[in-house]
Amino acid sequence: MYTNWIKLGLLCTGILVLASCSEPSDTAAPQQDTIPGVDTQRILQASPGAEWLSHSGGYDEQRHSPLAQITSENVSNLGVAWTYDLATNRGVEATPIVADGIMYITSAWSLVYALDARTGEERWVYDPEVDKRVGVNACCDVVNRGVAVYGDKIFVGVIDGRLEALDAKTGAVVWSTVTVDQAKPYTITGAPRVVEGLVLIGNGGAELGVRGYISAYSAETGDLVWRFYTVPNPNKEPDDAASDAAFESIGNVSWGDDGEWVTDGGGGTVWDSIVYDHVGDQVIFGVGNGSPWNRTIRDPSGGDNLFLSSIVAVDAKTGNYKWHFQTTPGDNWDYTATQSIILAELPLGKNGTPRRVVMQAPKNGFYYVLDAATGKFISGKPFGPQNWATGLDQNGRPIEVPAARYTNVPHTQMPGPFGAHNWHPMAYNPDLKLAYIPAQEIPETYAFDPLWATKPAKWNTGADFTTGVPVDLPPGITKFLRASLKGRLIAWDPVKQEPRWTVEHNNAWNGGILSTAGKLVFQGKLDGDFVAYNAETGESLWNHNLRSGGISGPATYSIGDEQFVTITTGWGSGFALITGYGFDETVSPTVGKVVTFKLGATGTIPVPDMIEIERTVKAERYGTADQLNSGMVHYARVCTACHGALAISSGVLPDLRWSAYSGSADAWQAVVAEGVLADQGMVSFSELLTLEEIEAIRAYVVAQGHNSLAEEAAEN
Ligand code: CA
Repeated sequence: MYTNWIKLGLLCTGILVLASCSEPSDTAAPQQDTIPGVDTQRILQASPGAEWLSHSGGYDEQRHSPLAQITSENVSNLGVAWTYDLATNRGVEATPIVADGIMYITSAWSLVYALDARTGEERWVYDPEVDKRVGVNACCDVVNRGVAVYGDKIFVGVIDGRLEALDAKTGAVVWSTVTVDQAKPYTITGAPRVVEGLVLIGNGGAELGVRGYISAYSAETGDLVWRFYTVPNPNKEPDDAASDAAFESIGNVSWGDDGEWVTDGGGGTVWDSIVYDHVGDQVIFGVGNGSPWNRTIRDPSGGDNLFLSSIVAVDAKTGNYKWHFQTTPGDNWDYTATQSIILAELPLGKNGTPRRVVMQAPKNGFYYVLDAATGKFISGKPFGPQNWATGLDQNGRPIEVPAARYTNVPHTQMPGPFGAHNWHPMAYNPDLKLAYIPAQEIPETYAFDPLWATKPAKWNTGADFTTGVPVDLPPGITKFLRASLKGRLIAWDPVKQEPRWTVEHNNAWNGGILSTAGKLVFQGKLDGDFVAYNAETGESLWNHNLRSGGISGPATYSIGDEQFVTITTGWGSGFALITGYGFDETVSPTVGKVVTFKLGATGTIPVPDMIEIERTVKAERYGTADQLNSGMVHYARVCTACHGALAISSGVLPDLRWSAYSGSADAWQAVVAEGVLADQGMVSFSELLTLEEIEAIRAYVVAQGHNSLAEEAAEN
């Protein structure tokens, strides 16, 4: 039963996006005194320090600050200095940028905010006015992980594929360029990085069928300078791109000619980690999963499919290939290698001399240490439970368990597609030589999708998770299964490749990490708990209830003689939407916040207004067993990602069990088939679902409503 619920958790996802987004406040604001003159040298030399100038603090992306005013001795005096209400609800994954006393952050739908970093006073807000219908292309909520700053501009990747440069002083658009084919289901959720005048940006969409790449644009003009594709052109011809030579020499031969990748894009999106290695003057980025997931469908030739699930290094100025390391050859499970990439010096050279390394804890569950100059595998060990490989060979290639290449025979696997570590930023303390991993245990049962051939459409991964799942789950099973998913903070010794200490969490989705020279590790959680741990022992020293999801990467900075710690909060993102976690009296799906702490402050975070929902089902039970089963399968496939597994919503998007639209077949059809709520993001699904399937989903949702009420009545 354990795996059954998890199966539903993942399913499909799709996409009934009922979004709501309040209007941002007026952009008129006092002008700031100085314009940030941030350049590569300043980021290299000054950060992280008093400021937080790039996504992970500095180019090495360690998320470790030398600030040490806040320590294990005084952290108990940490209090709320200020809070700021973001203009959106839904998930918030942004790490702030702090430059010249101004904080720049983003929220859902790619809104950008400039705030006084000392007081939280708003300077300006920029809304790119995204068409809400693009929300259906977002696998994991319409989130954004932050901006970049360079020169006098702020750069943001917009969920609809735009890359925009804003005037840092006013928020006015300086240039805007479309980085993707907007007819395809591309999205941008990641933070840009800027190196020597080039803005680096990738994209997402590999669940829905796109071809991945990373691009470099001129920070000054917005002109494309280079692009590196991560999978071949469908005809294996050159693209006139920086990646051409790599595909001609090593990439193309790792793909067959007759798989679905030719029409489905192949995947390999660069949706999160992009790191500048100033020593090698190279850009190192993480590549995502294959599209479709199931390699038997994607590429029956059985090749490694470069550069899926790889860490790739290219020349920073030209984008020309330098090296790659593939964590998961022939990806079959959504095992992205897009997770945090950290550069560091470890005593792994001759006689313990420093050696510059690349470290990553990708979804597949192994912690990798590679040589930064060559990509050569140094070591790799599992950082949590995994059962898909018996280990790594001397070159770092996984030794797969044969059954993991699932067929009609399902394989229950750890980790599942959520990964042993997802986007939540990892950190590294160079003084203690410890990495801090937000790790999780979320298994999945994979099987070949019997509907693959008849449903060639978005969110068709070729993997199925409903085989054998009963429509009527036993009472209480949801809570049991939810409680059984695990999350933990691991302090990992990358030299010994073993944990130093571990903190077990009470839920799976733990947040990003900040490490400081005050020997502290800060981490939030989806349930709103924000904690400071002793970096050497894992002892919990301080905590504060954020009253919303706290999963983004925190940052720290100082102004005057005060050190500040900031975390952005919000309820949503992929896991929350799917699992319905945390919707209780303290965590509300109202607007997200920026919450900033300092020593001696005594501010409070307001208790959110809870939204009262009338928990009544608007129709009597109906439907045959076959119809209900069909409803479950298609709900799981198309609706889960936004409206929640088992039709239990997170509270962010409408809970369909109580929806007025579920009360009549006509009203339901008007929404799901005809798209009458399209301007709110709930587009028509008539291309994915027949009218019979749409009505079967309604029968399933109505049944789930009655089941839930019966279960609650039995408990009381
Ligand atoms: Ca993915």
